[in-house]
Amino acid sequence: MESISRRSLLALPFAYGASSLGAQVKRPNILYIMTDDHATQAISCYGSKINQTPHLDRLASSGMRMDRVFATNSICTPSRATILTGKYSHMNGVPVFNRFDGGQQTVAKLLQQAGYYTAMVGKWHLGSNPTGFDYWNILPGQGVYNNPTLYDKDGSETHKGYATDIIADISIDVLKNRPKDKPFFMMSHHKAPHREWTPSEKYRKMFENKRIPEPANLRDDHAGRTDAIKEQRQSVFRDMTRNDLKLKPPPGLAGPELRKWLQTKPTEVETEIDGVKKTLTGKELEDWKYQRYMQDYLGCVQSVDDNVGRMLDWLDANGLKDNTVVIYSSDQGFFLGEHGMYDKRFMYEESLRMPFLVRWPAGIKPGSTSTAIGINCDFAPTFLDLAGQPVPKDMQGRSFVPVWKGNKPRDWRTAMYYRYYHDPGDHNTRAHYGIRTDRHKLIYFWKKDQWECYDLVADPHEMRNIYDDPKAQKTVAALKQQLAQLKKEVKDDDQFANEQPKESSYVQAPPPKKR
Ligand code: CA
Repeated sequence: MESISRRSLLALPFAYGASSLGAQVKRPNILYIMTDDHATQAISCYGSKINQTPHLDRLASSGMRMDRVFATNSICTPSRATILTGKYSHMNGVPVFNRFDGGQQTVAKLLQQAGYYTAMVGKWHLGSNPTGFDYWNILPGQGVYNNPTLYDKDGSETHKGYATDIIADISIDVLKNRPKDKPFFMMSHHKAPHREWTPSEKYRKMFENKRIPEPANLRDDHAGRTDAIKEQRQSVFRDMTRNDLKLKPPPGLAGPELRKWLQTKPTEVETEIDGVKKTLTGKELEDWKYQRYMQDYLGCVQSVDDNVGRMLDWLDANGLKDNTVVIYSSDQGFFLGEHGMYDKRFMYEESLRMPFLVRWPAGIKPGSTSTAIGINCDFAPTFLDLAGQPVPKDMQGRSFVPVWKGNKPRDWRTAMYYRYYHDPGDHNTRAHYGIRTDRHKLIYFWKKDQWECYDLVADPHEMRNIYDDPKAQKTVAALKQQLAQLKKEVKDDDQFANEQPKESSYVQAPPPKKR
């Protein structure tokens, strides 16, 4: 931005790349920070009732909070593949935990070709090594919270400390050492707050004795809903393992016996409160499980918030504030006890919605919000637009940039298409596809031939399935038609309807240590 004032840049139409303005405008840097499984219910600027995230709030208040950005397949590996390719799962070959084919077109490759310095740090979880990055350093598979190993093209290295701090440390180091003659595109991806939700020592203590308010539908009896929500095994009360609940194994257990002990879902738990031993069962145990889950999850989030703050401080201190687009998102949302569940997968709001906060002083009015329906296919086109690059025709999203500038195009989408495939997966979740409009949601569990429909204005917590309600029949019929149309538009012809993971990205051993 050396040769053009901020005022005139703001007034420009948004195709200011090399072709329209030549070398006059410095293309913005892009810092994309993403966590794993961070729900908007645990971010205070989204109205959290359970925690405070001052640094994420600072990002929102100095930029924009987008309230309707949705994952098109709410699970880790598929969402990451969609973000990189700008394509739905059925177009990028990653409907379940398939290994990502890094030979295909990605936004990283296109930005690299356009002269950006490209870097990827942290959780990758795509089963193959990153392509299109000048620098990459990633966790193998899920990685671990404490003393994590990361690897790059030269081999692996184990770092002493807590994963969230280490990933931010490496990200900042990479930015310090980047070539200064190019704009950068960095993906800085945290493991946190993914299961098994291990907080740092500092934040474990912070939430240890706190009582976290329960969501109103923690004890949802699932009446009136389909078999899917009744058959799932992602229930806080029923399905949390001893490992999830951080219970201490008896001394002497090792190997398969220890693993079996840790994977058991306890129906009673010994606790010690104020020096008094007590065996918890029934409702008392249920209450305790929810608290345990939330204390750990929120502790993980607190470290994320701190480290987002550190990265913002570093950018600000190094003169990079004005011309760096900083985005905070998560690969999908998560259930924090809503409908009695943890995990994601379902098309219900808490799982479907991705946090999306963006700061860009040169292009976004501080404190703005948007309810435009966005999807994770839009991220790649957005990054390309920022870089002044054309968006390839086979990408299935569109740039957020006009929305950020307060000029939502008239023909912006009014509905989004969703499809989840991994059935039974790890939580016996039924496969489904569906549509979400501004007002309604229609979900089809195709292996069951069962439907759910919600009015999100009258029933924001999706407790009343109106699919069979005689008064809703006109709406249901219209939504069915719209869903069929959208499915066709995104070219989903059921090619992966029965997909099961073959070459799984789930477990990955790190390569040998660096010499
Ligand atoms: Ca995830």
